[in-house]
Amino acid sequence: MKQQIIEKIRNAGVVGAGGAGLPAHVKADAAVDTVLVNGASCEPLLMSDPYLLEAEIETVVSGLRTLMECTGAARGILCLKGKHGAAMRSARAAAARHAANGLEVAELEDFYPAGDEHVLVHEVLGRTVPERGIPLRVGAVVSNVESLYNIALAMRDEPVTDRYLTVTGEVRRPMVVKAPIGAPVRDVLDFAGGPVIADYAVVDGGPMMGRVLSGEAHSVTKTTSGLLVLPKDHAVVTGKVMDPERLRRITATVCCQCSQCTDLCPRNLLGHSLHPHKLMRAAGTADFASASIAREALLCSECGVCEKFACPMKVSPREVNALIKKTLTAEGATWESRGNELAAHMFRKERRIPTARLVRRLNLERYDGHPAFAGAMEAPLVRIPLRQHIGAPSLPVVAVGDIVRKGCLVGEIPQGTMAARVHAGIGGEVVSVADGMITIKVR
Ligand code: SF4
Ligand code: SF4
Repeated sequence: MKQQIIEKIRNAGVVGAGGAGLPAHVKADAAVDTVLVNGASCEPLLMSDPYLLEAEIETVVSGLRTLMECTGAARGILCLKGKHGAAMRSARAAAARHAANGLEVAELEDFYPAGDEHVLVHEVLGRTVPERGIPLRVGAVVSNVESLYNIALAMRDEPVTDRYLTVTGEVRRPMVVKAPIGAPVRDVLDFAGGPVIADYAVVDGGPMMGRVLSGEAHSVTKTTSGLLVLPKDHAVVTGKVMDPERLRRITATVCCQCSQCTDLCPRNLLGHSLHPHKLMRAAGTADFASASIAREALLCSECGVCEKFACPMKVSPREVNALIKKTLTAEGATWESRGNELAAHMFRKERRIPTARLVRRLNLERYDGHPAFAGAMEAPLVRIPLRQHIGAPSLPVVAVGDIVRKGCLVGEIPQGTMAARVHAGIGGEVVSVADGMITIKVR
């Protein structure tokens, strides 16, 4: 049965919807005692997970029970914040209905980053995932809400063709919307009434960890959790578009070694050997990546707390860490984890960042709401990237001129690699297969 489930998840092209897009069949091939449903929705402004927990709870629970069966987990815990009242009521009712199947609810406090896998496992299970490790190392699998929704569909042989996402910020009608995979960003913004300012930037994802899109040629992927339209000069945008090398030099010059970045670092608070203020000392040297302290950058989750909340000098340990990490990873550097010796900081709870304070600090209060679900949008054309996941890009299995239905396989996993299948987000004619992208147009 386990292999059948894994095969169906693989066939449907399910990937981790909340992060970098790890193919879900890889995660399902594990043996654990607990599956945690990551409904923390901890990035400010992103609301699609609370929506799914409220409106599609039975489908999410069906996916959860499938993953529990596949991994042998006896417990399945729906983890979400109490502030999402409707989602919480729906989750509690579902847990009561399925209590005999091991379902529970864990109410999270409203802080950032409650959805970081290491933090979530510690909060809910009291277990500490080793440095650079994954929850599997402590007997747990963490799965995003939409991944479970997609796993439920996969059991009905329905592939991933759409994505629920939040569109908010400077748009006429902020909303949660169901968009076809590959829908052009511009079409999604238009569906939300279009931008209401002329000089704007679009952030793909949340304000803390999302990235600024370089243009509107981008399209919705399986990991697009939100599109934030912000003024180009908004601090959330300007902090993301600076050249990392320039940022490193500024950080090295301006850092006053106050150590607030370390004091509030969520990974340091879990006991990990990550001290961003010490890393900033190394950042000033020419061969910064070869300093012995530099290896600590491998432990950085790039959550952005140091950059966007802690630092009084408004510099970015996160960017410096990312730069060092990139260099070290290319060199094949590894980290010897101290595993179970880790002890969380005695003031960890007190030092968590309340989301409301973070939203104020980010100057995002005017966009902070609970946008309603606006339904499913249609797209006359989709541009579907063959890489929407960690691993190798998928191989195109269609050619220009082919007619496909929505859900048809268009990208296959290359033999012997880790990848995810890709399916048509709409029905129509394949008009281009180029540059890692398949373009389909409605006929
Ligand atoms: S981004 Fe900053 S706060 Fe977050 S884990 Fe890295 S060093 Fe710590
Ligand atoms: S918080 Fe900013 S100024 Fe203080 S040590 Fe960290 S990087 Fe330097």
